[in-house]
Amino acid sequence: MQHFCNVRVSESMEERDRPICPKCGYDQTGEVATWGTQCPTRGICTECGLVFNWSYVMRPELGQVPWYVEHARGLRSFVWRSLRTPFHLILPHRFWKQLDPAKPVSIVRLVLWVILALFIVHTLVAIPNGYNAWIRSSWNWSRVTFQQYQQMHGNYAYAEMLFDGYFYPYLDAIPRPWSQQSSHKWTLDIRRGWHFRVGHSHSPHIVSAGMLLLWSIVLLAIPHTRRLSKLRARHVVRAIILSIFMIAMSYELTHLIRTMYELDWIPRAAFPVLDGLPVMFCWVWLFVFWGCAVHLGWLIRPSRLLIALGTIASILGGTTLSVYIFIITTS
Ligand SMILES: [Zn+2]
Repeated sequence: MQHFCNVRVSESMEERDRPICPKCGYDQTGEVATWGTQCPTRGICTECGLVFNWSYVMRPELGQVPWYVEHARGLRSFVWRSLRTPFHLILPHRFWKQLDPAKPVSIVRLVLWVILALFIVHTLVAIPNGYNAWIRSSWNWSRVTFQQYQQMHGNYAYAEMLFDGYFYPYLDAIPRPWSQQSSHKWTLDIRRGWHFRVGHSHSPHIVSAGMLLLWSIVLLAIPHTRRLSKLRARHVVRAIILSIFMIAMSYELTHLIRTMYELDWIPRAAFPVLDGLPVMFCWVWLFVFWGCAVHLGWLIRPSRLLIALGTIASILGGTTLSVYIFIITTS
């Protein structure tokens, strides 16, 4: 074992302890072994050309970004960063400038955050959604107020509203007595939603999903572009997870705007403008986010060819997937 500048380098070193290029994952053990009595502060990867700080390679935790949720330590910092991360995410150029390849990646933490954040957002949207679904359900044709409905069905009235809110327009729950004999025991009957049509109201979000799918294929599955990008898969996976978060947010916001319109909570004249806004923003955001990821975040050079290829592929992929799903769901 050799010992240089407090860095131990040995052949038997564990894979995860080896110094690697943070961008492409190229093993830097050989480079470290050439150090004599002094060690440089900056290095350059012979594989991908990334100029990096050796301290970030040896101790990745030094590269933590103060507002970013993936780098949170402890619950308080997690909560605080959970609120700040989406605001930074809205402006992709600022986001990626700070998240260069040397910054540590924690996929597990990011996935947990996205699940938790979307669950909270979905719950908040489920409340007006459930109320709206109840108003639109057949029960209201008899002009029963919610108070009367609640007297008839007890807590199952709330359970129905919450269920319908969560799963509208996919599933619809209706309280019914457990059996003919006993009217005290109740259960929820779950059926297919009344208003559910995939191709009609989901096609803008399917375009977003197709755009994301094609960018993922370009960077992870096509050997030529993979070689061109010289990128560890985890960087791309991070961008995919963040894109899923934004697509889901645009979906939730669209639903909320439609529910508010149906409940007469927003002016009727504003609806045509507001309705398309979240998904339009999401499309523009996806273009800018992936372009900035390639050029500013991952520092891929030359970047123009890859950005052009990814953007064209994502437009074609998004529209193709949307048309395909429209055809299979309407035929
Ligand atoms: Zn490299």
